[in-house]
Amino acid sequence: MPCQSNERTRRVISHAIGALLLPWSLAVSQAATAAPAKSSVPSVDQDLLFISFGVLAADSMEGRLAGAPGGARARKYLASMLEQIGVEPLVKGFTMQFSARSRVKEGPTSSPVATQGRPGFMGGVGRQTHTKDSTANFRGIDGANLLAVVRGTEHPQRYIVVSAHYDHLGPGFNGADDNASGTAAILAISEWAHAHPPQNSIIFAFFDAEEEGLLGSRAFFDKLPVPIDSIILDVNLDMVSRNENGELYAAGTFKWHAERPMLDSVAALHLVNLRFGHDSPGVADWSRRSDMAPFDERHIPFVHFGVEEHPDYHRPSDRPEKVQPAFFYHSVLTAAAFIHLADASLDIIAKERHSK
Ligand SMILES: [Zn+2]
Repeated sequence: MPCQSNERTRRVISHAIGALLLPWSLAVSQAATAAPAKSSVPSVDQDLLFISFGVLAADSMEGRLAGAPGGARARKYLASMLEQIGVEPLVKGFTMQFSARSRVKEGPTSSPVATQGRPGFMGGVGRQTHTKDSTANFRGIDGANLLAVVRGTEHPQRYIVVSAHYDHLGPGFNGADDNASGTAAILAISEWAHAHPPQNSIIFAFFDAEEEGLLGSRAFFDKLPVPIDSIILDVNLDMVSRNENGELYAAGTFKWHAERPMLDSVAALHLVNLRFGHDSPGVADWSRRSDMAPFDERHIPFVHFGVEEHPDYHRPSDRPEKVQPAFFYHSVLTAAAFIHLADASLDIIAKERHSK
């Protein structure tokens, strides 16, 4: 859509923070030179991807903590972008509010500290309610997911959910890879889907409070806006912008076999080094570590795209300048290419989904 590009860029930039633009325009041009010319790959907009990533990962978002001003600021930005793209809200104002309680780790300070492993339990800066349990207390969270939909042309009553969590650990953290990267990715993919309507409907789910125990994706099922049997697949993106070896994992095929040939086709594009694994019982199984878990628990097939943990994981050093622009863009193209293929062959996944 080159004819729309300048106009869109102007729109996006009007929402961006001025200081961010210089490094990100550089990133855009670097990625552009490495972009593949493969017709089977959706033409996801780089400007939208990198600029929204820069905004979400900026210091001003204060680590996008669920239930805190930074999280609300990120949500406001995302809702305004969805509105400008023109995708349809799945719920009023795109916003599904929820209240939940997150366990908070006792610690010597009140600053957010994530424990090892995911989902992280953390100290928070939001409202806290002490309990009788001497080892933990709880933080009440007023969170909100954002839900948009692109209606399918052939099977509008059948859904693919494309999900990413936009929250992170709060002030002092940027959460650039985790998960400004996945959030910006699904925003940019939503724009492509809106311009190239899929056969099946696609719900774009921006989940809140993942870091505190997948609270947003669990709330999604508490208030499910479509029949559960109509959800055929979840494609979750969490940490997709950097890996020293150019490796991106697609987890889920250990259990969900129908997806594998489609992912093999995408892997053959060599946009990234697409790896399989982290989805079988035993060592480093990611199946319960991000927002695909509530889908998997309900026997809904999933594919989770993400990189292995790096030294900046859940640290203040997970900053936007650490991103590898070409890898990030190619990760997003990989996910988009899979979504495109899965949409075209959703009967095959639906058959497996309803057989379990
Ligand atoms: Zn994450």
